[in-house]
Amino acid sequence: MYLKSLTLRGFKSFASATTLRLEPGITTVVGPNGSGKSNVVDALAWVMGEQGAKSLRGGKMDDVIFAGTSSRPALGRAEVSLTVDNHDGALPIDYTEVTIKRTMFRNGGSEYSLNGDTCRLLDIQELLSDSGIGREMHVIVGQGQLDTVLHAGPEERRGLIEEAAGILKHRKRKEKALRK
Ligand code: ATP
Ligand code: MG
Repeated sequence: MYLKSLTLRGFKSFASATTLRLEPGITTVVGPNGSGKSNVVDALAWVMGEQGAKSLRGGKMDDVIFAGTSSRPALGRAEVSLTVDNHDGALPIDYTEVTIKRTMFRNGGSEYSLNGDTCRLLDIQELLSDSGIGREMHVIVGQGQLDTVLHAGPEERRGLIEEAAGILKHRKRKEKALRK
Protein backbone atom coordinates (compact mmCIF):
# COMPACT_ATOMS: atom_id res chain seq x y z
CA MET A 1 0.00 0.00 0.00
CA TYR A 2 1.28 3.48 -0.77
CA LEU A 3 -0.08 6.97 -1.29
CA LYS A 4 -0.61 7.41 -5.01
CA SER A 5 -1.93 10.91 -5.38
CA LEU A 6 -3.21 13.87 -3.45
CA THR A 7 -5.46 16.50 -5.00
CA LEU A 8 -6.16 19.82 -3.32
CA ARG A 9 -8.76 22.34 -4.46
CA GLY A 10 -9.57 25.43 -2.44
CA PHE A 11 -7.51 24.03 0.44
CA LYS A 12 -5.42 26.73 2.18
CA SER A 13 -3.12 28.33 -0.43
CA PHE A 14 -4.12 25.84 -3.16
CA ALA A 15 -7.00 27.74 -4.78
CA SER A 16 -6.86 25.93 -8.13
CA ALA A 17 -6.98 22.15 -8.30
CA THR A 18 -3.47 20.80 -7.76
CA THR A 19 -2.54 17.14 -7.98
CA LEU A 20 0.62 15.62 -6.55
CA ARG A 21 1.43 12.19 -7.93
CA LEU A 22 3.45 10.09 -5.56
CA GLU A 23 5.56 6.98 -6.10
CA PRO A 24 6.33 4.17 -3.68
CA GLY A 25 9.22 5.11 -1.39
CA ILE A 26 10.20 8.49 -0.10
CA THR A 27 8.68 11.71 -1.42
CA THR A 28 10.29 15.08 -0.82
CA VAL A 29 8.46 18.37 -1.25
CA VAL A 30 10.75 21.34 -1.80
CA GLY A 31 9.97 25.03 -2.27
CA PRO A 32 10.57 28.53 -0.92
CA ASN A 33 9.23 29.66 2.46
CA GLY A 34 5.49 30.14 2.45
CA SER A 35 4.99 28.25 -0.82
CA GLY A 36 2.64 25.68 0.72
CA LYS A 37 4.82 22.69 1.70
CA SER A 38 3.32 22.38 5.17
CA ASN A 39 -0.15 22.97 3.68
CA VAL A 40 0.35 19.75 1.70
CA VAL A 41 1.05 17.88 4.93
CA ASP A 42 -2.01 19.54 6.54
CA ALA A 43 -4.12 18.35 3.58
CA LEU A 44 -2.94 14.80 4.15
CA ALA A 45 -3.98 14.86 7.82
CA TRP A 46 -7.24 16.66 6.98
CA VAL A 47 -8.43 14.20 4.33
CA MET A 48 -7.76 11.34 6.76
CA GLY A 49 -10.22 12.93 9.14
CA GLU A 50 -8.20 15.31 11.34
CA GLN A 51 -10.71 17.21 13.47
CA GLY A 52 -8.44 19.60 15.38
CA ALA A 53 -7.99 23.09 13.93
CA LYS A 54 -4.76 23.48 15.93
CA SER A 55 -3.20 20.37 14.38
CA LEU A 56 -3.92 22.00 11.05
CA ARG A 57 -2.18 25.18 12.20
CA GLY A 58 -5.39 27.20 12.17
CA GLY A 59 -7.71 28.80 14.70
CA LYS A 60 -10.97 27.35 13.45
CA MET A 61 -11.80 24.53 11.08
CA ASP A 62 -12.84 26.68 8.11
CA ASP A 63 -9.39 28.30 8.11
CA VAL A 64 -8.49 25.48 5.72
CA ILE A 65 -10.66 27.05 3.00
CA PHE A 66 -8.81 29.34 0.58
CA ALA A 67 -9.20 32.78 2.14
CA GLY A 68 -8.47 34.80 -1.01
CA THR A 69 -5.60 37.05 -2.05
CA SER A 70 -5.43 40.58 -3.48
CA SER A 71 -5.97 39.10 -6.93
CA ARG A 72 -8.31 36.22 -6.20
CA PRO A 73 -11.52 36.08 -4.17
CA ALA A 74 -12.00 33.65 -1.31
CA LEU A 75 -13.61 30.31 -2.10
CA GLY A 76 -16.64 28.72 -0.50
CA ARG A 77 -15.28 25.22 -0.10
CA ALA A 78 -12.14 23.16 0.35
CA GLU A 79 -11.70 19.71 -1.15
CA VAL A 80 -8.91 17.20 -0.75
CA SER A 81 -8.82 13.70 -2.18
CA LEU A 82 -6.26 11.05 -1.46
CA THR A 83 -5.77 7.97 -3.61
CA VAL A 84 -4.09 4.97 -2.05
CA ASP A 85 -2.75 2.00 -4.02
CA ASN A 86 -4.26 -1.06 -2.40
CA HIS A 87 -2.87 -3.89 -4.56
CA ASP A 88 -1.55 -5.59 -1.43
CA GLY A 89 -4.98 -5.43 0.19
CA ALA A 90 -3.69 -3.57 3.25
CA LEU A 91 -6.96 -1.66 3.32
CA PRO A 92 -9.80 -4.06 4.11
CA ILE A 93 -11.87 -3.15 1.04
CA ASP A 94 -12.31 -4.92 -2.29
CA TYR A 95 -10.60 -2.30 -4.47
CA THR A 96 -7.02 -2.10 -5.72
CA GLU A 97 -7.27 1.68 -5.62
CA VAL A 98 -9.07 3.60 -2.90
CA THR A 99 -9.89 7.30 -3.06
CA ILE A 100 -11.06 9.12 0.02
CA LYS A 101 -12.32 12.65 -0.30
CA ARG A 102 -13.26 15.32 2.18
CA THR A 103 -15.14 18.52 1.36
CA MET A 104 -15.84 21.37 3.73
CA PHE A 105 -18.19 24.28 3.08
CA ARG A 106 -17.73 27.74 4.50
CA ASN A 107 -21.31 27.79 5.76
CA GLY A 108 -20.50 24.76 7.90
CA GLY A 109 -20.71 21.09 7.16
CA SER A 110 -18.26 18.51 5.93
CA GLU A 111 -18.72 15.64 3.52
CA TYR A 112 -16.71 12.50 3.03
CA SER A 113 -16.68 10.00 0.21
CA LEU A 114 -15.07 6.66 -0.47
CA ASN A 115 -14.46 5.80 -4.13
CA GLY A 116 -17.11 8.32 -5.08
CA ASP A 117 -19.81 7.18 -2.68
CA THR A 118 -20.79 9.50 0.14
CA CYS A 119 -19.87 8.00 3.49
CA ARG A 120 -19.45 8.93 7.14
CA LEU A 121 -16.23 10.08 8.80
CA LEU A 122 -16.48 6.90 10.86
CA ASP A 123 -16.32 4.74 7.70
CA ILE A 124 -13.04 6.41 6.72
CA GLN A 125 -11.62 6.17 10.22
CA GLU A 126 -12.47 2.49 10.45
CA LEU A 127 -11.04 1.70 7.03
CA LEU A 128 -7.76 3.47 7.80
CA SER A 129 -7.36 2.32 11.37
CA ASP A 130 -7.06 -1.29 10.25
CA SER A 131 -4.19 -0.42 7.95
CA GLY A 132 -1.68 1.52 10.00
CA ILE A 133 -2.42 4.90 8.39
CA GLY A 134 -5.46 5.72 10.48
CA ARG A 135 -5.94 8.90 12.43
CA GLU A 136 -3.92 7.73 15.39
CA MET A 137 -1.47 5.55 13.51
CA HIS A 138 0.17 7.81 10.96
CA VAL A 139 2.91 9.98 12.34
CA ILE A 140 3.42 13.57 11.36
CA VAL A 141 6.45 15.23 12.86
CA GLY A 142 5.61 18.91 12.56
CA GLN A 143 7.91 21.71 11.57
CA GLY A 144 10.06 22.71 14.54
CA GLN A 145 9.41 19.38 16.25
CA LEU A 146 12.46 17.82 14.63
CA ASP A 147 14.81 19.60 17.04
CA THR A 148 12.80 18.23 19.95
CA VAL A 149 13.16 14.72 18.55
CA LEU A 150 16.89 15.08 17.94
CA HIS A 151 17.61 16.60 21.35
CA ALA A 152 15.29 14.38 23.35
CA GLY A 153 16.74 12.43 26.27
CA PRO A 154 16.39 8.64 26.33
CA GLU A 155 13.10 8.67 28.29
CA GLU A 156 11.52 11.29 26.06
CA ARG A 157 12.76 9.57 22.91
CA ARG A 158 11.33 6.29 24.09
CA GLY A 159 7.97 8.03 24.60
CA LEU A 160 8.03 9.38 21.05
CA ILE A 161 8.86 5.97 19.60
CA GLU A 162 6.16 4.33 21.68
CA GLU A 163 3.67 6.87 20.49
CA ALA A 164 4.64 6.30 16.86
CA ALA A 165 4.36 2.55 17.31
CA GLY A 166 0.96 2.95 18.93
CA ILE A 167 2.14 1.41 22.21
CA LEU A 168 1.69 4.48 24.38
CA LYS A 169 -2.04 4.13 24.80
CA HIS A 170 -1.64 0.49 25.86
CA ARG A 171 1.06 1.40 28.38
CA LYS A 172 -1.16 4.14 29.81
CA ARG A 173 -4.01 1.65 30.08
CA LYS A 174 -1.70 -0.83 31.82
CA GLU A 175 -0.46 1.79 34.30
CA LYS A 176 -4.04 2.77 35.05
CA ALA A 177 -5.04 -0.86 35.59
CA LEU A 178 -2.07 -1.47 37.95
CA ARG A 179 -2.97 1.57 40.06
CA LYS A 180 -6.40 0.11 40.80
P1 ATP B 1 8.07 27.27 5.30
O1 ATP B 1 9.19 26.85 4.41
O2 ATP B 1 8.24 28.64 5.85
O3 ATP B 1 7.70 26.23 6.33
P2 ATP B 1 5.78 26.35 3.76
O4 ATP B 1 6.13 26.03 2.34
O5 ATP B 1 5.61 25.21 4.70
O6 ATP B 1 6.78 27.44 4.33
P3 ATP B 1 3.02 26.86 4.30
O7 ATP B 1 3.00 27.06 5.78
O8 ATP B 1 2.57 25.53 3.79
O9 ATP B 1 4.45 27.22 3.73
O10 ATP B 1 2.14 27.95 3.57
C1 ATP B 1 1.94 29.20 4.12
C2 ATP B 1 1.13 30.02 3.15
O11 ATP B 1 -0.19 29.47 3.03
C3 ATP B 1 0.99 31.44 3.65
O12 ATP B 1 1.30 32.31 2.58
C4 ATP B 1 -0.47 31.55 4.03
O13 ATP B 1 -0.98 32.82 3.78
C5 ATP B 1 -1.10 30.54 3.07
N1 ATP B 1 -2.39 30.10 3.58
C6 ATP B 1 -2.66 29.37 4.70
N2 ATP B 1 -3.97 29.20 4.86
C7 ATP B 1 -4.56 29.84 3.80
C8 ATP B 1 -5.91 30.02 3.40
N3 ATP B 1 -6.94 29.53 4.10
N4 ATP B 1 -6.14 30.73 2.27
C9 ATP B 1 -5.11 31.23 1.56
N5 ATP B 1 -3.82 31.10 1.87
C10 ATP B 1 -3.55 30.41 2.99
MG1 MG C 1 6.43 24.69 6.52
